[in-house]
Amino acid sequence: MKDGLELLHDLQIKDDLLKDIDRIIKEIPERIKEIEQERDGKKIIIENSKKKLEINLKERKKFEGDILQIKDKISKYKDQMNKSTTNKEYQGFISEIKYEEDKITKVEESIIEKMLESDDIMQEIRDSEQEYEGIKAEYENKISDHKSNLEYHINKKQKETKICDTLKVDIPKNLLKKYEALYKNKNGKAISSVETEFCGVCNVKLRPQLLNDLISTNNFITCENCGRILFKIIKEDEEENKQDS
Ligand SMILES: [Zn+2]
Repeated sequence: MKDGLELLHDLQIKDDLLKDIDRIIKEIPERIKEIEQERDGKKIIIENSKKKLEINLKERKKFEGDILQIKDKISKYKDQMNKSTTNKEYQGFISEIKYEEDKITKVEESIIEKMLESDDIMQEIRDSEQEYEGIKAEYENKISDHKSNLEYHINKKQKETKICDTLKVDIPKNLLKKYEALYKNKNGKAISSVETEFCGVCNVKLRPQLLNDLISTNNFITCENCGRILFKIIKEDEEENKQDS
């Protein structure tokens, strides 16, 4: 049967473990969020290309509208030309019409340019979509790994909490109270393991008398510097074990 101090030491180990599990449980969703953001960042390339294509279409529509307007102008000139009474007037319309028709040719060239550009953009979209599909699967795998890891740690937390609760039942009430108060005030470290002559947490050297008491008795001793409960890790035993093996 373990004594109270040993049980407290076991409890501290379990509490440390639970703290680590909590940290992992908190970190995993953050990591998943980062991966999702990275993945969605890759999608932006596709979205930008789609925007470029939209602009291209608008520009083409505008050019087509321009052509309709010019054609309208030409047909008006033709009407007026047919009604012209002098040769000079007639020639004037001929050159106006020629000028407008040249404009149409230029706009048509721009439309062809825009069509070629849109072919390139569409290819860009297809390429980046294909690339995205490839990397999306990798991201999904990573996310699913993190999710299983999260589930594992949530289960582990439940199991370890149960073990902790069972452990607490065996610990004398007064000791448990002291432990819990220290745990709260000392940043989750109530027990300090002493392996040499130093407090294992605050690292201050223990007075020889205190160290002697710690080694030779099972008394409840606290560190004079940090106030934590001292727990001896007996070195002699370790050395004996080493010789045995
Ligand atoms: Zn200390």
